[in-house]
Amino acid sequence: MNLSLKGVPASRGIVIGPALVLSGAAGDDGQERRLEPREVEPEIERLLKAVATTRDQLLDLKRRVAMEIGQKHAEIFNAHILFLDDPTFLVETQEQVRKQRTCAEWAVRGYVDRYARMLDAVGDGMMRERQGDIRDVGKRVVQNLRGGSLAPLSESAERRILVARDLSPSETAQLDLGKVLAFATDQGGPTSHTAVIARTMEMPAVVGLEQATLHIKDGDTLILDGGAGVVVVSPDKETLARYRQRQAELKVKERELKAVSRLPAVTKDGRVIKVFGNIELPEEARNAAAKGAEGVGLFRTEFLFVNRNNLPTEEEQFEAYRLALRHSHPHPVTIRTLDLGGDKFVTHLGMSGEMNPFLGLRAIRLCLAHPYVFKVQLRAILRASHFGPVRIMYPLISGLEELRQANQILEETKRDLARRSIPYDPDVPVGAMIEVPSAAITADLLAKEVSFVSVGTNDLIQYTMAVDRNNERIAYLYDPLHPAILRSLRMIVAASEKARVRLSLCGEMGADPLFAMVLVGLGLRELSMSAGSIPVVKKVLRSIGYREAHALVVQAMKLATGAEIRELLSSSAVGRRVTEA
Ligand code: PEP
Ligand code: MG
Repeated sequence: MNLSLKGVPASRGIVIGPALVLSGAAGDDGQERRLEPREVEPEIERLLKAVATTRDQLLDLKRRVAMEIGQKHAEIFNAHILFLDDPTFLVETQEQVRKQRTCAEWAVRGYVDRYARMLDAVGDGMMRERQGDIRDVGKRVVQNLRGGSLAPLSESAERRILVARDLSPSETAQLDLGKVLAFATDQGGPTSHTAVIARTMEMPAVVGLEQATLHIKDGDTLILDGGAGVVVVSPDKETLARYRQRQAELKVKERELKAVSRLPAVTKDGRVIKVFGNIELPEEARNAAAKGAEGVGLFRTEFLFVNRNNLPTEEEQFEAYRLALRHSHPHPVTIRTLDLGGDKFVTHLGMSGEMNPFLGLRAIRLCLAHPYVFKVQLRAILRASHFGPVRIMYPLISGLEELRQANQILEETKRDLARRSIPYDPDVPVGAMIEVPSAAITADLLAKEVSFVSVGTNDLIQYTMAVDRNNERIAYLYDPLHPAILRSLRMIVAASEKARVRLSLCGEMGADPLFAMVLVGLGLRELSMSAGSIPVVKKVLRSIGYREAHALVVQAMKLATGAEIRELLSSSAVGRRVTEA
């Protein structure tokens, strides 16, 4: 059939294999399934287990909310727990499974529907409100019954190419490399966290395919080319042969790159560029070092918080930070404080649905709203700083007040440790990420009060251009070469040079060879990126001169559109060398 689907490149690599299509979106309710008589008792067991898990989750949520927000808010969970404890619920759902031999999901959904309709019939406003609570609990039980949205994967014996409408960042982080060759999604943009994690895991991926789940069936043979953003469905023999040839060529290229990764990134005219790795979990620091990273420029610590029912303890966090330090020794580890919200959620911390989560209670704002959680993390980071070079970095700083507030909590935490004679590095460098236009515009003010700044272009582009980084329909507007972005970067470089403050960049822009050349031309001397991109970026930087890159950028800054700039770059001699690397 040879149907070729074009999406957004998310993570490089070519794989060929059978598809596994996840039909339901996360949180989808169960389908009716008839049981064989022998399946009935195991189904009851499954139901009881899911109810118990839901109960544990709710109790944990209630405890967290009481601690974080207040007892009054925690009480809403009493209604949820009461519903689960209601004997009628358990009796009726079990009876339905036994007598009608329907699956547990169906029985739960049926009961919830009947109950909610009954409340509606009562007609009382408060009763109606309770309907929402009850549907919520029902959804939780069903989700636990399904073992999360990735349950079908556990049944698959061979490695497959996962095809889904969307994968959340936390689902992506859970993917088992032993079962998944690559993934393709209908939704998602080039710097969505899902794409970022795929790159860290070095799992080929294409996102933003729009209709992949419509065109692909379970078991279809697929070719997925992550670098090109292409998925070929049921390829003919010639296409297969062509891609196998490309796979072999890529392998040769990889071997060449491996040799370069050990070398420093020094331009032909002697400018030294430091290249760091971005990690989501501490173990990844080992791979980053192996790929040639000179330390960790961004540890996205929120991945210690997702995919679990409770918050990680101070001790767990401390161990995680120490492990990253051990793998990076003797180089530094830049630990970014919790950046939840936006597209990364947890069930605890009372994170409620927001109309615009990327503009909402996210990152440093969430930490300042939950000082207890923030302090636990700062304590763990500070304790780790006694064992190796740590840098603390705050995400999504929008202005000086936020920075000062965060620093105040940091100082309190330091005093607290000192009082208890717990050692830490008193001079631990503290930096701010620049990823909000207000921070870029006031970079000169921020630079005076930090030891370093790090540009998060993934968010800076999203907020400057008003383009949701996860939305495939407007991905064409997400342009790192837009004059507004280059001007912002130029301003940040000038501000940090004036304040003599170290400047780094840890957005995905630095991982693209052509963009990396532009960044160096703009004056950046430190780039941090997913481990898989380090060798190719090092190779490119070693093949260019800083002065030629700078001259090209000066010319580019005179142009009016991203397209004109791209054309200039790719038609220049240095640009051509870079794209061929
Ligand atoms: C960024 O925004 O560029 C960044 C590095 O942070 P994250 O991708 O985790 O939002
Ligand atoms: Mg960011």
